[in-house]
Amino acid sequence: MIPVVDLAFSADFIARLASVLGKPVAPVALHEPEFEGNEWSYVKECIDTRWVSSVGKYVDEFELRLAEFTGAKHAIAVSNGTAALQVALRVAGVGAGDEVFIPALTFVATANAVSHCGGIPHFVDSDPDSFGMCPGALAQHLEAIAEPVAGGYINRLTGRRLGAIVPMHVFGHPAKIEALLAVAERYKLPLVEDAAESLGSKVGGKHTGTFGQTGVLSFNGNKIITTGGGGAILTDDPVLARHIKHLTTTAKLPHRWEFVHDEIAYNYRLPNLNAALGCAQLEQLPGMLSRKRELASAYREAFSGARNFDFVDEPDGCLSNYWLNAIRLKCGDLEQRNALLDAAIGEGYQCRPVWRLLSSLPMYLGCPRADLVVAGELENSLINLPSSPSLAGLLKS
Ligand SMILES: *Cc1c(COP(=O)(O)O)cnc(C)c1O
Repeated sequence: MIPVVDLAFSADFIARLASVLGKPVAPVALHEPEFEGNEWSYVKECIDTRWVSSVGKYVDEFELRLAEFTGAKHAIAVSNGTAALQVALRVAGVGAGDEVFIPALTFVATANAVSHCGGIPHFVDSDPDSFGMCPGALAQHLEAIAEPVAGGYINRLTGRRLGAIVPMHVFGHPAKIEALLAVAERYKLPLVEDAAESLGSKVGGKHTGTFGQTGVLSFNGNKIITTGGGGAILTDDPVLARHIKHLTTTAKLPHRWEFVHDEIAYNYRLPNLNAALGCAQLEQLPGMLSRKRELASAYREAFSGARNFDFVDEPDGCLSNYWLNAIRLKCGDLEQRNALLDAAIGEGYQCRPVWRLLSSLPMYLGCPRADLVVAGELENSLINLPSSPSLAGLLKS
């Protein structure tokens, strides 16, 4: 008889963490920002010149540099990733009562953005290898529920219009985006990529967030680079890019003095102060990405041969930014997972579980959903490990 919680299991976990990170004297954070470049001087320049708010040279520069780094034709900087998702969905045509397919296993912002557009999240299962939305499960589900009508498809069970598909790249590991795109095209659904966690991650050499109609980034404090708070929308479509910039900046018509606005729009601008931080962070990004790979290699080695868990590696054919390193329990068990988290946090390693499935949160309980078997299994078996790029400095070479 196997005990409910195997303590040897926790001891093994702690020993492997210690072999990479040493024994903490102070808690080792899950993901800490790092300001080792021009952050201070660019931000100071904003203050010295008084260009701290909604326009300024750093906003334009940040947008240009983001486009250059990701290979997107256009990047529009906004106040945060959630706002970016909301606007991306709005320009994709998502409106009141539309159903939007999102993974059940994602951060709550993906579902909230759908709701902010008046849409209804429709939860889809995860792929067991990439942890992103499963293209096979999506295709099968659409085959069962999608009914063609003039101008698109409806859900034959609810009668509601199908509005968009929003895959997400979990912990920075790319989802099976090409297969998801093929499904989206079959049903004429716009694809909005939630690439909030995957700046620096690529599929076959192409940056995540550049496959769909739009892609969304976040620069929250815990993301790979930060602007304090911030986000961006990527797109190759110049007309869409212009509309997004217009919508996120109060839809004001250019004029020397008149205040004329032609749409109900948003003030989702990224302040120049934050963009300055972002420009400096982007300069540091290549270095951070390579240090995060070093840390991931150290974890891979430390967790190899473990009886009860595996290190989560980047999917085949993909380059991951390893935003958050993770292990996966071979046998997903909530009590065992919680015991590991308790032990790690007790020792000063700030590990954390993956999100609760959004389909189980009170405000989303009534939302439509496909089978969520894989997502449920992942929910009980994924644990994130401390992943700050600075931790690479602790590694013995
Ligand atoms: C961080 C994150 C967001 C939202 O970004 P904010 O900038 O915090 O609003 C959206 N989706 C996912 C998957 C995220 O991890």
